[in-house]
Amino acid sequence: MNTAEFSALFESCKGCDTCRDACALLQREGNPAEIFADVEKARRSAYECTLCGRCEALCPPKLEIVEAFRISRRMLYSQGKHPRLRLMGGQLYQWLGKVRPLKAHFAPKGSKVAFFPGCNLSGSRPEAVWRLWSELEKVSPGLGLVFDCCMVLQRDSGDEVGFARSITELGRSLKAMGVETLISACPSCNSALETGGLEVELKSAFDLIDAMPFDAKVGKGTIRLHDACSTREDRNLHETVRRLVHKTGHRVENHTLEGDKTFCCSHAAFSLTAQEAETPYITYCGGCLQTLSKGVSVRHLFDLWFGSPDGEEVPGMARRLVNRFKLVRRFKARRPSPDL
Ligand code: SF4
Ligand code: SF4
Repeated sequence: MNTAEFSALFESCKGCDTCRDACALLQREGNPAEIFADVEKARRSAYECTLCGRCEALCPPKLEIVEAFRISRRMLYSQGKHPRLRLMGGQLYQWLGKVRPLKAHFAPKGSKVAFFPGCNLSGSRPEAVWRLWSELEKVSPGLGLVFDCCMVLQRDSGDEVGFARSITELGRSLKAMGVETLISACPSCNSALETGGLEVELKSAFDLIDAMPFDAKVGKGTIRLHDACSTREDRNLHETVRRLVHKTGHRVENHTLEGDKTFCCSHAAFSLTAQEAETPYITYCGGCLQTLSKGVSVRHLFDLWFGSPDGEEVPGMARRLVNRFKLVRRFKARRPSPDL
C-alpha cells in the first residue's frame, strides 16, 4: 500500500482531532490522516502506536485507524524494516513459551475440552491458574491443559506469515489430541487465537466462573476495573467481570476510562491524572497486569476471586518463567501423561 492508498483510507477524516485528545502519539505526530499522508511519519509511528484502538472508539466516522497501523507494520516487517532490537525481548519471551519444558499440552483420552491459561497469567498467578483449572475440571471432567503461547506479540509485530504458522501448528496439535474447545482466561490470548483463525471453539473462563456457585463475600469497599483494550467492544465480558467482582463483596466504581473508552495499559502515564494513577486498579488481563504494574497499583481479578493465593506482587520476566516451569512440573506430577 502506498501513501495515496493510505490517504484514501482517511478520505472521510473530518480533521476534528478528537482522536488526538486520547493519545500521546497523535498529539505529537498529528491525526491519522496527517500521519499516513507522510511516509516518514507513518514509518516512525507504526511501532509507536500500541494498537489500543482508543482513537477509533472516539472517532466520529469510526475510521479503521488500528487496521491502518497494522497494515503499516506488516509492510515494514515484510520489508525487514521493523525495529528488531525493540521487538527482541517480546519475541524471546514468546519463543520460550513455545519450547519444552514451558510448553506442555495435555488432554486425557476422550477429552474434548482444554484450558489455555496463557503465558503471562501462568507466570504471574500460577496458584490461581492451578485453582482455576481445578474448579473448571469439576464442571468439565477430564479437562485438558494447554501451556502454550498465543503469539499475540508476533501478530502485533507485523509478522503475518509467522503468526499464521504458529496458529496452524497449535491447531494441528489440538486436533491430534481431539480438543474441540479451548477455555481461555486472558482476553489478549482470546483475541490472538480468534484473529488467527484457530479452528476450535473458544470459551471465556470468566463466563464459566460466573456460572459457578460462589458465596464467600470476603471483600468490601469500592474498586476500579481496567478493561483491556482487546475487550473494548465486548460488553458481555465487561458485564461478566463486573458481576464477578460484585460476588466477591466489592463494589465497582464507574469512571470515564472504562468499557469501550478504556485506556491502553501502556498509556497509563498519559491517560491518568496523578490522583487516578494512585487509585488501585483491578485487571483481568495477564498482559495488562504486567504493563500497568510499571506505574500503577494493580491486582488481578483472580486475586479477589481466590483471595490472593499468589500474593499481590507482579513478578518480572525471569520470575514468571520460573513460575511457569514449576506450574508445568506440578501439573505433570499430578497427571503424568506422554503428552506432557
Ligand atoms: S491505536 Fe492507541 S496508540 Fe495507536 S493511535 Fe490510536 S490511540 Fe494512539
Ligand atoms: S477522530 Fe477520526 S475524523 Fe477526527 S481527526 Fe481523528 S481520525 Fe479524523
